[in-house]
Amino acid sequence: MRAMILAKLGPLDENPEPLTLAELPVPEPRPGEIRLRVAACGVCHTELDEIEGRTPPPRLPVVLGHQAVGRVDALGSGVQGIREGDRVGVPWIYSACGRCKYCRAGNENLCPWFQATGRDVDGGYAEFMTVPAAFAHPIPEIFSDVQAAPLLCAGAIGYRSLKLAGLQDGESLGLTGFGASGHLVLKMVRHRFPHSRVYVFARSAGERAFARELGAVWTGDSTDEPPEKLAAIIDTTPAWGPVVAALQHLEPGGRLVINAIRKEERDKDALLRLDYPRDLWLEKEVKSVANVARSDVREFLALAAESRLESEVQELPLAAANQALRELKARKIRGAKVLRLSSPG
Ligand SMILES: [Zn+2]
Ligand SMILES: [Zn+2]
Repeated sequence: MRAMILAKLGPLDENPEPLTLAELPVPEPRPGEIRLRVAACGVCHTELDEIEGRTPPPRLPVVLGHQAVGRVDALGSGVQGIREGDRVGVPWIYSACGRCKYCRAGNENLCPWFQATGRDVDGGYAEFMTVPAAFAHPIPEIFSDVQAAPLLCAGAIGYRSLKLAGLQDGESLGLTGFGASGHLVLKMVRHRFPHSRVYVFARSAGERAFARELGAVWTGDSTDEPPEKLAAIIDTTPAWGPVVAALQHLEPGGRLVINAIRKEERDKDALLRLDYPRDLWLEKEVKSVANVARSDVREFLALAAESRLESEVQELPLAAANQALRELKARKIRGAKVLRLSSPG
């Protein structure tokens, strides 16, 4: 099968072609696993964190990709509840132990044995992949393969971020960064919290214009002052400056949720500008969002289907994965980038 593999870590600036197209054996599903023929796989900013070593894969080479959609084409022994031909999606959560205190409490995203698709095991930048049957999710009929892919990470983690932000209808929400996740959060908020106003802080003029098209009431750069203080802000940037700026924009009791698996080091000194009375006092909260649980994925897919949530996608062939990653790094984004592996079926 064809796959884009990562064999060596390093900065994208030094190696703009980190993935190479390779011919690999088609994987066999083990007991309890299914194999899917991948039709589409979303491209996520986390892939840059893997390639550049901020969340390094434990073994190389590895096939990246954790927003895979495809049809089941083989079953390992003992699999029940899924049949060949079913259409399923595989998100970032590939497996968790099921026994630790986090798993037992439904927080399998915090499990110490959490395994991530496309980092700890081979993912969806390939024509086939295997996954434990219990960690594959049926895709609602209304979505095409390409439409469904970004829902699996950008959408599901956006949903979890919004839950952690504790937004109530009518409260104002800020989004810093406006990529695949941000644009889905904005659409979700407009559906679920119709009286909430959404403010978008983004560096690129393209992202700001796109946010206004989708209904943001105000857009600016991360250091611009919004016309009102905000109840919650979700940060999806790779940098620290926007975090410090966001804290200044929160109202008393406001919540900042950082949705980034890792932050880059280059502007870390921005943290020295933190001013306690201005930025943290009056019970402001800072929380990160880590991974996703299966319940986030399933709840979000149901919600997305019910509200007919449409992702704005840019489709590319598998072999263009490096180009997609370079554009992501340069923030040449409009919605979500998705690799297409086979013709629609
Ligand atoms: Zn992701
Ligand atoms: Zn566990």
